[in-house]
Amino acid sequence: MLIIDGKISAVGKNLSAPKGIRHFDAGGKIVCPGLIDLHVHLREPGQTAKENLATGTAAAARGGFTSVVCMPNTLPAIDTAGTVALIRERAAREGVVNVFVTGAITKNIAGEELAPIGGLKRAGVVAITDDGHCVQNHELMRHACQYAKMFDLPVMDHCQDYSLVTDGTMHEGYWSTVLGLRGWPSAGEEVIVARNILLAELTGAKIHCQHLSAAGSVALLRDAKKRGVPISGEACPHHFVLTDAAVAGSEKFWAADGKLISSLVTRHSSLPEWPKYDTNCKMNPPLRSARDREAILEGLADGTIEILCSDHAPHCDYEKEVEFDYAPFGIIGLETELALALMQLVHAKRLSLADLIAKFTVNPARLLNLPKGTLSAGADADVTVIDLDCEWVFRVEDSASKSKNSPFNGWKLKGKAVATIVAGKTVWSEKSELVAA
Ligand SMILES: [Zn+2]
Repeated sequence: MLIIDGKISAVGKNLSAPKGIRHFDAGGKIVCPGLIDLHVHLREPGQTAKENLATGTAAAARGGFTSVVCMPNTLPAIDTAGTVALIRERAAREGVVNVFVTGAITKNIAGEELAPIGGLKRAGVVAITDDGHCVQNHELMRHACQYAKMFDLPVMDHCQDYSLVTDGTMHEGYWSTVLGLRGWPSAGEEVIVARNILLAELTGAKIHCQHLSAAGSVALLRDAKKRGVPISGEACPHHFVLTDAAVAGSEKFWAADGKLISSLVTRHSSLPEWPKYDTNCKMNPPLRSARDREAILEGLADGTIEILCSDHAPHCDYEKEVEFDYAPFGIIGLETELALALMQLVHAKRLSLADLIAKFTVNPARLLNLPKGTLSAGADADVTVIDLDCEWVFRVEDSASKSKNSPFNGWKLKGKAVATIVAGKTVWSEKSELVAA
């Protein structure tokens, strides 16, 4: 592959490179279009103790991502053209990877009044979402979809019915009963996935269901897609690696739901350990049952779920180091998602490597109309180099993120991005051998 002036100039054998060009030897590695994560919280503006554009994009680069899409649930929310302009300008200055911005569906993400969707589109947002929250009023959501369709913007939705979920903190099931924690039932997600399918059918807007966690959601999506409804979904590694048993501590998890993957994450080392009620196992939607995890994996394997992402949600130590009920939802994920997805899907022989890469590249690019996800001549030279078999241990202290809230600390993983190239510039590389002159 020949890269000139930040663009892909040619791909093929025996390319003649101009004199003085730098040479990368990616022998034995996978070279693919730069990975895209369309669900990332960069916490700017207003929550820079958790993360900022520089640290969040550095974590993305280490994870192999050349583009990220940031969520608008910031302080203030990204619900005006001015805030979009501010983030785009700062990202261009401080970010090491491409940052695409989403705008809120409703003003201040309050779910009451629509944000200026046309103005947001003109300011450059690639989608609208109230992520972290969910518009409960179906009529308001219908109008949002109609405007989004008019402005050719996808609507991304965090699917959560407040009346069913109330103040649930973990999956409603066996373990919530054993642990005495309030349950967040699967139906709380499925009801809104069903609502979104109906509204996508009614309005013709593209609706994308974020971080799917429940088996019923996958079944609904599979059926709707068969009928040609413009609906799509995404899944995050924590939902297809862990289960609600993880909230009961590592011992309980490895003894039951974790048995199958324990052989993947250890070989010569001992299994990672964590206590009961570890707040790094608290996310929204929550970790669900083994049956739900299986359904998410099936949905990914059969193409029902076309997109993989992290829902990278950094929080400070002091915020997470409280009782389970009081901790904020969310975990960081940019640096572990590629390996976890490779392990559960490709190494486990459920999905081909090409299909997995599509879920990180061309599929999100298509949904959001991004000029990315390709290695065609003339495209931006955003490239990720992956070592499929590299075994490594993720340690939160090595993370480029400002926050360390990961349930995968100390996990032995297999597969890693070893070089991340954005517009022809190497923004991260594992070993100097790859950047030999
Ligand atoms: Zn969310």
